[in-house]
Amino acid sequence: MANRFENKVRILDMIRELGRASRPMLSESLDINLPTISNLTKELIDAKLITGDGFEKSEGGRRAELLILNPGFATVIGLEMGLTGIRGVLADLGGNVLDRVQGPDEIALEKDAMVESLLQVAEMLKSRAPAQRKPIGVGLGISGLTDENGRISREFPHRELWKDVPLAQLLEQRLGLPAQLGNDVQSATLAERRHGGARGARDLLYLSISHGIACGIVVDGRLYVGATRNAGEFGHTIVEPSGPICYCGNYGCLESLASPSAVVNQALDAIRKGVQSSMGSATSLNLKSISAENVFRAADEGDRLATNVVTRAAEYIGLGLANLVNFFNPETIVFGGEVLVHGYRVFNEAIERTFRARVLPILQQPTRIQISALGRDAVAIGGSMLIFESLFDEPEKLFAVSEGRPLKVGHEAEKPPDKRGRKQRFQSVKEVEQGLSRWRRLSMNRQATRDR
Ligand SMILES: [Zn+2]
Repeated sequence: MANRFENKVRILDMIRELGRASRPMLSESLDINLPTISNLTKELIDAKLITGDGFEKSEGGRRAELLILNPGFATVIGLEMGLTGIRGVLADLGGNVLDRVQGPDEIALEKDAMVESLLQVAEMLKSRAPAQRKPIGVGLGISGLTDENGRISREFPHRELWKDVPLAQLLEQRLGLPAQLGNDVQSATLAERRHGGARGARDLLYLSISHGIACGIVVDGRLYVGATRNAGEFGHTIVEPSGPICYCGNYGCLESLASPSAVVNQALDAIRKGVQSSMGSATSLNLKSISAENVFRAADEGDRLATNVVTRAAEYIGLGLANLVNFFNPETIVFGGEVLVHGYRVFNEAIERTFRARVLPILQQPTRIQISALGRDAVAIGGSMLIFESLFDEPEKLFAVSEGRPLKVGHEAEKPPDKRGRKQRFQSVKEVEQGLSRWRRLSMNRQATRDR
């Protein structure tokens, strides 16, 4: 028999998974009697962890109040650092952005300058936060590879000198708040599933195209990170064995054929060889300033060269996506990252067209494609979620925050939760799963009784 604490955690997990839930629904799905649910939810409301959010639709009878996680419970600084720049948000538990700081658009070549810009963005968000909204932690979604504890940035794309930078520690020292790192695309995927258009999706692929190409994966409701937390390097899947060499050292990776910089290089090559284009000519002096944006836009405006280059890149991506969907069978694909979110018509349509043409027929219709609802904030909101998710992984911390106790910083915080704690969490997650299916079964029975 679970104790009060465990039952409160189960209630929180259930509400978090469903988005909103009524007391009768919690009672049925968790198999706890209604008076106990009422007591426990009152305690959770007093602790500011949950709050009422309207009433459920019902045909006659009393309508039950719906409960959600309280967005105002706490705020966290969420950061993004990638080749497209640095930005940060102050986000609440509901994924709402309360403040936003845009750092440099292009990041410095030199490591120390990059780190300093990042720290300044975080500091500015902390200092601007109103007294009742002071952040309790800072999370960073970063490109490249991170260590498995989310403390160290191991590698950063196209920066050979970037090796094992202890960013979590640096953020903690500067801000006095606990910090956590995660892969940028994985962070965005987390945000999209909790707060974006793919809310609650059980199986989801988040295709991100900004500077590079990557994919976030949610399998059966859980973010799939892989054995060393580096799953989703979709850009380095091989789509043309004899294709051009990639910066990873391989031939024919998706990145080398279809990334925005590959698109620019292909357009420039052709123009230099004398191909006519609205983007420039072999003799123009400003050829170097042609950006990926210029090429995507020229394609949308009907430029023949740009259309062909962009369409071919999109076809490679659509083909790779068909392989992924055949493999994972997601219910939804979210288009994220700067380029896809911008919604260039020729590019996005050619990806979807090729994907639909190449994927297995039985998966063609059921697979939805949607543009990220969080847009350019997805990674930064995801950064903030690294901290929020860690609270739910160790619920003692959640209750500590509700009592106004600060989270531990540094060495203490580095200790991963002990094995027993982890086992208990898995138990709770499993119970929520079972509770959900019990609830669905009961609802269906009720529906069937009504229909009879
Ligand atoms: Zn590669």
